[in-house]
Amino acid sequence: MLNIESIRRDFPILDRQIYGKPLIYLDNAATTQKPQCVIDAISWAYCNVNANVHRGTHFLSLQATEMMEAARENVRDFIGAESRSGVLFTRGTTESMNLLASSFSDAFIKQGDEVIISGMEHHSNIVPWQIQAERKGFKIKVIPVTDDGELDMDAFRSLFSGRTRIVSVTHMSNVLGTVNPITEIIAESHRRGIPVAVDGAQSVPHMKVDVSALGADFYAFSGHKIYGPTGIGVLYGRPDLLAQLPPYQGGGEMIKRVTFEKTTYNDIPFRFEAGTPDYVGAIALASALDYVRGLGIDAISEYESQLTVYARERLSAVPGIRFIGNAPEKSSVISFLIDGIHPFDIGTLLDRLGIAVRTGYHCAEPLMDSFRIPGTVRASFSFYNTKDEVDALVAGIEQIIRMF
Ligand code: PLP
Repeated sequence: MLNIESIRRDFPILDRQIYGKPLIYLDNAATTQKPQCVIDAISWAYCNVNANVHRGTHFLSLQATEMMEAARENVRDFIGAESRSGVLFTRGTTESMNLLASSFSDAFIKQGDEVIISGMEHHSNIVPWQIQAERKGFKIKVIPVTDDGELDMDAFRSLFSGRTRIVSVTHMSNVLGTVNPITEIIAESHRRGIPVAVDGAQSVPHMKVDVSALGADFYAFSGHKIYGPTGIGVLYGRPDLLAQLPPYQGGGEMIKRVTFEKTTYNDIPFRFEAGTPDYVGAIALASALDYVRGLGIDAISEYESQLTVYARERLSAVPGIRFIGNAPEKSSVISFLIDGIHPFDIGTLLDRLGIAVRTGYHCAEPLMDSFRIPGTVRASFSFYNTKDEVDALVAGIEQIIRMF
């Protein structure tokens, strides 16, 4: 059982007033708020251990390096990776997917080959592959999404061919809330010898993720969506696969030896961490993961599921509401439209009541096109949200409907 009142006191921003109303923050799929321990970790790191990592021989540099590598170990443990060498620090899911698409296609994808993604991907798991597809002349195949917002698994199976090189899909949709059958997707792919990359931006904050148990070959997530700072994220990769990939960026840290004639590259994970890394971000991310561990990811999952079910029930009674995303396996995200009112108007008017929701296409334009809608209103929940806040959301929407 989570003590939500006490948890809320850990998040200073939740005390804010917006237009004279208490902030009701329901935009957690975009970014989460930060507990005091994460804010303190950033300040502590700059006050106590700030020095460039991996290079210096002096005390501070060694200490900063130790802390960054401890953060890597912390992430490894959090996601159940077998070794630290498979945990790369990036700027976030977007950079993780760009790195992967670039280096993986350099190593393994040729003209005429195929990559499978899904119709519910965030732009950051579409565009990086498109950029490489244009460069290399490979084809992107897309798993269709059903009217309920699930992946069409029969269609998925039919997309494989002798030219398939990788499957790259999201674990959880940031629009529909659908939790995809990732174990089955990985099993189907591995049976055909195809590796799987998973966009875990939305799943890692809400459910237990164990990359080894899943058998994921690559898994990406963002620190800021799991109560950590912006500017830090992770790409997990199976070490034996990562070791076969060329670097993504060149510069310091990713090299073994540089001459004007030839440069040799560092071992993983450093080969993929060119330049000064965000070691303060890594240290603060470790603090965020400790915070989540302290609450317990299973307790978080359970509380958020109950809250999402409650929100869905309450919202169902709103006249003219249409939910986008009706999969049985859903988590923490509710997208909807109200008959005759533009999502943007709903978002703007809710904002005046102190309620922060997201409106628009949520960086998933092809998904919106497939539903033939211009966007949705999206409420996304965290463990610090309450039933009272859900009630306020519903009352706010009903007030807006009356106005219209
Ligand atoms: N993938 C999904 C499913 C997301 O929801 C997001 C962000 O909303 C991203 C990727 C991109 O994450 P970031 O902007 O942190 O790189």
